[in-house]
Amino acid sequence: MHLPHLLADASFCAVIGHPIAHSKSPFIHRQFAEQAGLALQYERIDVHPDELPSALETLRAVGCRGLNVTLPHKAAVAALAVHPSARVAATGAANTLWWDDGLHADNTDGRGLVRDLTQWGCELAGQKVLMLGAGGAAAGVIPDLLAAGIAGLWIWNRTAARAAALCARFSPGKAQILAPVDDSVMPQAMDLVINATSAGVVGEVTALPAGALAPQTACYDMFYADGATPFLSHCQALGARQCRDGLGMLVEQAAVSFERWHGYRPDTAPVLAALSARQ
Ligand code: NAP
Repeated sequence: MHLPHLLADASFCAVIGHPIAHSKSPFIHRQFAEQAGLALQYERIDVHPDELPSALETLRAVGCRGLNVTLPHKAAVAALAVHPSARVAATGAANTLWWDDGLHADNTDGRGLVRDLTQWGCELAGQKVLMLGAGGAAAGVIPDLLAAGIAGLWIWNRTAARAAALCARFSPGKAQILAPVDDSVMPQAMDLVINATSAGVVGEVTALPAGALAPQTACYDMFYADGATPFLSHCQALGARQCRDGLGMLVEQAAVSFERWHGYRPDTAPVLAALSARQ
């Protein structure tokens, strides 16, 4: 790990991942800090999986106030946390760390997704939702989707056993339907389809179970790109009229982290606008 030169008169935060050069988190957090009038040094730090425990110890020792965590460390940091939040305990993944009496870990992805969907005008209460993918991002948002009062959650994944395992993990005690989709045909059209696969990262299109889409179905891709993502282009070609990518979720989940560390809730709209203009 290469530790940057630390400024004496600024609060130090960072995002760790491997690779990390692509991360937009420094831009977002620096914009939030400007709003808050906070002197903030926010850096990207490449941390190889082999050096994760020692890197965390070094960052704690130099007074790091907060850390965002991205691939491939989200599960590993959840396991290392002394104080995992209820969301981290439920999902096994964390994206936000800080220290006081030991390492605290939280997962802000679900709140980021729900806030972005709400700002888009997508009310979740009573909605039928199809989630594509069963990896860390899918697991991470399920508690908040359920808490928002959706009527049902169906999960489809390329590897069907992972979808079934995810449904089983969240099912006991929940009123909502959680069902793995295993025959590639949905019995009814969905109100909302969320792509939580990483297929778009390599330019691929996620397969979509037949019957899931109607023209009024809202299509949301956690992935984001310059222009329409492969998934959203596919949905539009199938007739979907309401599509949104995950840039807003990225800004909203960062805002939850920022508020946790600095006690200031930033205005996300201008930051999303600035980020969209840079795309
Ligand atoms: P992950 O844990 O590696 O899971 C990847 C998932 O994608 C698995 O379900 C995998 O299926 C599926 N998949 C991969 N390639 C596929 C393909 N070609 N066709 C169909 N399915 C495929 O990754 P993750 O952490 O969940 O991240 C998933 C996506 O969410 C990424 O694009 C990430 O950038 C995005 N994300 C966005 C935000 C945001 O703030 N906007 C936050 C978190 C994550 P198998 O189980 O069959 O391998």
